[in-house]
Amino acid sequence: MPDAISIDVPPNDLEAFWMPMTANRRFKKTPMFFSAAEGMYYATPDGRRVLDAIAGLWCVNAGHCHPRIVEAIRAQAGKLDYASSFGVGHPLAFHFANRVVEIAPPGFRHLFLAGSGSEAVDSALKFALAYHRARGEGHRQRLIGRQRAYHGVGFGGLSVSGIGWQRAQFGALLPATSHLPHTHDLARNAFSRGQPAHGVEFADALEGLLFAVDPSTVAAVIVEPVAGAGGVLPPPQGYLQRLREICDRHGILLIFDEVVTGFGRLGAPFAAQALGVGPDLITCAKGMTSGTVPMGGVLISDRVHDGLSQGPEAVPELAHGYTYSGHPLACAAGLAALDVYRDEGLFERAARLAPIWEDALHGLRTLGPVRDIRNLGLLGAIEIDGGDGAPGERARACAEVCLERGVFIRALGDTLILSPPLVIDEGQIGQIVDAIGSGLRRLAA
Ligand code: PMP
Repeated sequence: MPDAISIDVPPNDLEAFWMPMTANRRFKKTPMFFSAAEGMYYATPDGRRVLDAIAGLWCVNAGHCHPRIVEAIRAQAGKLDYASSFGVGHPLAFHFANRVVEIAPPGFRHLFLAGSGSEAVDSALKFALAYHRARGEGHRQRLIGRQRAYHGVGFGGLSVSGIGWQRAQFGALLPATSHLPHTHDLARNAFSRGQPAHGVEFADALEGLLFAVDPSTVAAVIVEPVAGAGGVLPPPQGYLQRLREICDRHGILLIFDEVVTGFGRLGAPFAAQALGVGPDLITCAKGMTSGTVPMGGVLISDRVHDGLSQGPEAVPELAHGYTYSGHPLACAAGLAALDVYRDEGLFERAARLAPIWEDALHGLRTLGPVRDIRNLGLLGAIEIDGGDGAPGERARACAEVCLERGVFIRALGDTLILSPPLVIDEGQIGQIVDAIGSGLRRLAA
């Protein structure tokens, strides 16, 4: 690690920070810290250097502490720290929106800004409801998500999410939600490379649901083009196209939650482009600022925008927005991230590396108790056969071996999740699979 990275020491008392999505009591007995980062690497307080195989939390697409993004944030903080976007403007937010819209799929000419992925998802769901209401179809109130989906932790997003343990603590959530089946079909698709060949018919479950709930009451279907936190599940070939067809047939909006897939993860700005399917709303966050300053957004298709712009000119089109919508620091970071993505060709780099990444991951198949390997773009998952132990125990053990070998990966249940910064090189891909290989061999021994 270069000398520029200093070493930070955690306090002795760790009680006060109640960590999110974390087993706090366990963590605080065996804590683990990163105190600095640069490019592909974290540094620990005791000076170890650790390769980040998940880009922070699927977000640091340009690599950690990219100097151009750091400088843009620094300069902005000293110039305009904050300005509201409620009825007044600051130029940066408009510049940033123009730049995002430039790389968006055709027919998306407007961007709403929020402070996180969860806010982006809740915003998109509300826009769908408002769109139908503006057209005199206020009876369209049902929102359809999917099993194994992750759409953040707001009440809207959680209500259409499909990861049971994350919902269970919070009771009934929003009424009028339904869930499609997930598309993970181990029996037919294990070890598929890229989009699995089987499973287009999982989309037909939407017709089945509509039969039960009356299609004229449905506002929107929301899916992650590649389910992320549910275990990296690439969509079966033709699946998203078929969802689109069914939505069109019934006047239902299709929302792509691209919080993970947006900003280059699949080798194009958005999965909608990489996979050739046009939704009506696209949520994004994470890679939007390369993870540096919190920000989320909703790309709004002309159809939805025009539908919502029919009222009197003096009245806000949307009774919706956040204190931090269009925050100057986030916009500065986002503009710099877009410059880096463009000037360093990072989306193209992800596309070029994807087949190398695929080969590397699938080479792990025979090294240990592996049930499935999945990949698309620079996303990957190794699903481990959990054996007789507690759920997730073997995957966690494998991730620990990786960390001993200087590679940070995430174990989610029985699955190891991979989503490296797009600046990764072939040597670092090798380092990641070597570390996982060691973990798998240890499990096999
Ligand atoms: N949607 C998806 C697909 C996500 O993966 C996430 C976060 N991992 C979110 C929404 C929520 O984003 P945030 O944590 O920024 O609220």
